[in-house]
Amino acid sequence: MQALWLENQQLDLREVPEPAWPGEALIRIRKAGVCSTDLELVKGYYPFTGIIGHEFVGDVVECDDPAWVGQRVVGEINVICGNCEQCLGGRSTHCESRTVLGITKRNGTFAEYTTLPIANLHRVPASVPDELAVFTEPLAAALEIQQQVHIRPTDRVLVIGAGRLGQLIAQTLALTGCDLRVVARHPHQQKILVERGIKLILEEDVQPWRWDLVVEATGSPGGFSLARQAIRPRGTLVMKSTYKGEMSVNFSSIVVDEVNIVGSRCGPFGPALRLMEKGKVDPSVLIAAEFKLGEALQAFERAAQPGVLKVLVEP
Ligand SMILES: [Zn+2]
Ligand SMILES: [Zn+2]
Repeated sequence: MQALWLENQQLDLREVPEPAWPGEALIRIRKAGVCSTDLELVKGYYPFTGIIGHEFVGDVVECDDPAWVGQRVVGEINVICGNCEQCLGGRSTHCESRTVLGITKRNGTFAEYTTLPIANLHRVPASVPDELAVFTEPLAAALEIQQQVHIRPTDRVLVIGAGRLGQLIAQTLALTGCDLRVVARHPHQQKILVERGIKLILEEDVQPWRWDLVVEATGSPGGFSLARQAIRPRGTLVMKSTYKGEMSVNFSSIVVDEVNIVGSRCGPFGPALRLMEKGKVDPSVLIAAEFKLGEALQAFERAAQPGVLKVLVEP
């Protein structure tokens, strides 16, 4: 089959054998999305060799349990052991021997087929089209904030960054009824938010020490520094992006202001599918372009351009 292979920071479209993993479901990919993590993998921020991609919707074509064959599914990306201290403690996304779809020791989704254990799969409701379902994984990651932090309707909440993930964070936080503002740099990012009734704030208008909850979704030192200034004493700072290399931070001020810092990664798929089924969020407004798998290299070039939101690839 055709697949997008990453090795030594080089992407290469090549023929590889169809995957066969005993005990796992074989899934034919319908659509896959390019995520910032994919672009970081290409830059070599994490070591990975193999087929990249982890955001997908597809059909189960082969599986030990016949009830799943023919089902349209999305899949959780962490494949876990179920036996380590993290798994047994209910922190299975932190499994000590996990493999991660297209990220760690497991081939991903920019291919005709991929495999995952049945336990990772979620059926997609018929009313959720592929161009929405392909967003389940990043939408779940956005919802992880609400799994971790109690957001009160009276909270002043600031989201810094309105890229791929920032947009989904803004859409989901808007549902809580909190007093939400978003710092968005690119005009089309701003337009998408405004069209959904989400309020913007200019970077220079962000009042220091005033915000109950700040979500940092830029992955840049500048974004972190703005978040740090904005948060009120005893406020909560949610870190939703990874950072290139190491970042220098004045931790004394964080101690003095008693700031809570929460790292935030993968979230719950069930609620993400439910919100799309009910039309409460619309991630499809992020779609910038769609490419065929044969043009996957162009898809990555497009996704890497500044301000471009979601690029989809289909076999
Ligand atoms: Zn992702
Ligand atoms: Zn485990």
